Formats: sequence, C-alpha cells, structure tokens
Amino acid sequence: MLDRVIATPTSQDRTQCLVVGAGVVGLAVAWELAKQGLAVTVLERQPECGLGASAAAAGMLAAGVEAGAPGPFLDLCRLSSKMWRDWAEQLFLDSGVDCELQTTGLLRVTSSAESISDLEVRRAWQLTQGIDVSELLTLDQLRREVAGVSGTVVAGLLYPDEGHVHSHRVTQALELAARHLGVRIQTGVEVASVTVDRDRVLARTPDQDFEADFAVIAAGSWSGGLLAQLGVRVGVDPIRGQMAAVRLPPGSLPRIVFGDRGYVLQKRGGLVLIGATQEAAGFDSWVTLAGLERLSQIASHLLPAVGEAAFAHSWAGLRPHSAGGPLLGRVPASDRVLVATGHHRNGILLAPATAALLGQALLSGADSPELAPFSPRRVVAG
Ligand SMILES: Cc1cc2nc3c(=O)[nH]c(=O)nc-3n(C[C@H](O)[C@H](O)[C@H](O)COP(=O)(O)OP(=O)(O)OC[C@H]3O[C@@H](n4cnc5c(N)ncnc54)[C@H](O)[C@@H]3O)c2cc1C
Repeated sequence: MLDRVIATPTSQDRTQCLVVGAGVVGLAVAWELAKQGLAVTVLERQPECGLGASAAAAGMLAAGVEAGAPGPFLDLCRLSSKMWRDWAEQLFLDSGVDCELQTTGLLRVTSSAESISDLEVRRAWQLTQGIDVSELLTLDQLRREVAGVSGTVVAGLLYPDEGHVHSHRVTQALELAARHLGVRIQTGVEVASVTVDRDRVLARTPDQDFEADFAVIAAGSWSGGLLAQLGVRVGVDPIRGQMAAVRLPPGSLPRIVFGDRGYVLQKRGGLVLIGATQEAAGFDSWVTLAGLERLSQIASHLLPAVGEAAFAHSWAGLRPHSAGGPLLGRVPASDRVLVATGHHRNGILLAPATAALLGQALLSGADSPELAPFSPRRVVAG
C-alpha cells in the first residue's frame, strides 16, 4: 500500500481553494475563483472532466419554463440567464471554444385541453415578473413558428428569450479557461472526505491528502456522502435523465419545442436532441428500452418528423436533486467549506450565477442575500 502523503505545496503552488468535482459547476466555480486571483486545485475522480450529468445535458437556458412560481429560484434562474451572453463571450476569449449559444426562443406547448388554463395562469404571473412571453397561440400560429408541430398540440406560449448552448463545449471551454488561468485539475482522484482542522481544510483521497484554506464541494449527485460528514441535513439524490438524438438537416427546428412530458431542440450541426426522462433509479446511469420508448413518444407528440428521422445515439445522466432547490453556500460544520450542487435540471443555466455568487461568498466571508434561500444550513422540511 502506498504511504499516505500530505501534499506540501511550495509557496509558489500553494492551493488556496480545492474544488471537488469537475462538472460544469465545479469548473465554473474554479474559473471564477481563478479570475479573482486565487490558486485553485480541482479534484475529479473520473479520467476526464465533464463526464457526469454535465455530459448528458441538453443545454437549455430556459428560466421561463423551469421555474414554476415567482420566488428565489426564478430570480436565480433569471439572473443566470442574463449573465449567459457575456459569460459565453468571456469563455470564448479565455478558451477559444465557442459554446454555441443560440437564442432560438422556446415554444411551450400542450396537448391537453385541461392544461390550457395552467398555461394562462403561468403567463399571468410571468408578465407581472417582466418575463417576455407571448399571448396564448393556436396550433396554426405555433406552426408558423415551427413547421410540423404535431396536430395533437392544442395551444402554446412563445418565450422569445430562451435558448440553448452546447453542453460539451461548455465544459470543454471551462476546463481550458480555468487551466489558462493556472487552475490545476487533477483527474482520477476520488475524494473520500473533506474535514476542517483549525484553519486548514483537508481533502482525503485513497493515496494522498490535499490541504487548502477553503474547499468547494461540487460533486453533483455524488455530493451527499461528503456533505453529510459536514453537517448538511439536505440530501442530494440522483435523478436519471435519458436522452436520444436524431439527424435532421441543420435549420429544420428553429425553436425549442417544449411539451408536457419533454422537449426537442436542434444543435447547430443538425443533431436534434429529444429529452428527457426523469427517474429515481439510484446511481444506474444506463439507457433502457422503456426510456427510449418514452423519448420516441415525446418526439412524435411534439414533432412527428423527429420521430421519423435517422437515429443517431442515446445516453443518460444523473441530475443532482436536492429538496428545496440547489445547495449553495457554507456548510454547517465550517465557514471554510462551501457547497455548489443540487442544480437538478438546471445546472447549465445556473452555472454563471452559481460561480459568481459562490466566488463572492468565499472572498467576502459571508453568503449574500441571494444565496440565503439555498443555504446548505437550511433545515429539511418534514
Ligand atoms: C438528460 C439531462 C438533461 C439535462 N438538460 C439540461 C438542460 O437542458 N439545461 C440545464 O441547465 N441543465 C440540464 N441538465 C442538468 C445539468 O446537467 C446538471 O444540473 C449539471 O450538469 C450538474 O453539474 P454538476 O457539475 O453539479 O454535476 P456533474 O456534471 O455530475 O459533475 C460532478 C462531478 O463530480 C465528480 N465527483 C463526484 N464525486 C467525486 C469525488 N468524491 N471526488 C472527486 N470527484 C467527484 C464526478 O465524477 C463529476 O465529474 C440535464 C441533465 C440531464 C441528466
């Protein structure tokens, strides 16, 4: 067995902050902290960055359909949504990678006559929040936005500001941008525990310990074990999402079409993504025939041409879900350990705001009011 070693950095390479997990959230936080001048080391257990939930995401930036009511979560989604354009530009400058941000607009459609009133209620409160949303559109009007919308659709709303990014490119860009600013990323390193001893944080791995002034836990669906050791009472549960992709000529699907059970959207190169299932299936992240059948039904009920197109591939990922929304801020056990996880369906959308608010919290020594509703110190209801 290898002797345990404590990494004893020289003053030149002394780590000020450890980040556990190199998904979109951990990499975004690392990039932000490096921009603020901190020496950051990211520890990732997989052989490469971005192989967790972030690799599975459709990349939608869809605050208008994801937040179900006014409140802190909607505010966080909208803050992050507004940040995305500048963030993508800065990422491009720092990494040379284009995240393929497209403001396509999104049609929120329904095939159920009973759900029309839900859309109207949603629209009414969204207008009070200043969200740009159309009047209720008929099938004919929807087909003028996207040709070929299914005849089963009865009505819908258009959100012109929504769009999507290419999630693989986002993690790739973040990794390069972070490395460019001196962030050290160590892959193949699984953190078993994070503890605090007086003024130092210690991350233990099977063959090495890492020390720093601070740590940020961004281990996605796998964060729960690490957080429980630090007094966090809210769990993080994996929610499996299966997706499939088919090929259509680029430009066939000018807007996201988002229905009652799923959505379809097209990437710049032509690939059309169909998403997604939502299943509590533990840590199994494989694709099932039942999942593919559901995706096929989603496609046919939204846009029959997608159901008939050439199949390209399918995949699945585990969304990190926490009751009451994301976990963002300091853990109960120490001010030196912060958490950024539990983004569930919206980690790509929320990455810019998460990174900015967490960075601010770490550097200022206090969690900002925007973070308070998402505090890892909150008590679990029931
Ligand atoms: C099918 C699907 C579709 C989605 N679509 C969208 C979308 O359209 N828009 C959107 O905004 N979001 C979407 N999401 C959600 C989004 O993907 C997640 O919220 C986001 O990727 C979470 O990022 P993360 O960095 O927290 O987690 P992850 O990407 O899972 O990263 C966590 C990382 O931590 C590492 N790790 C875990 N434990 C340890 C350890 N002990 N030591 C070291 N490393 C560790 C893992 O290997 C992993 O790389 C979707 C998700 C799925 C599954």
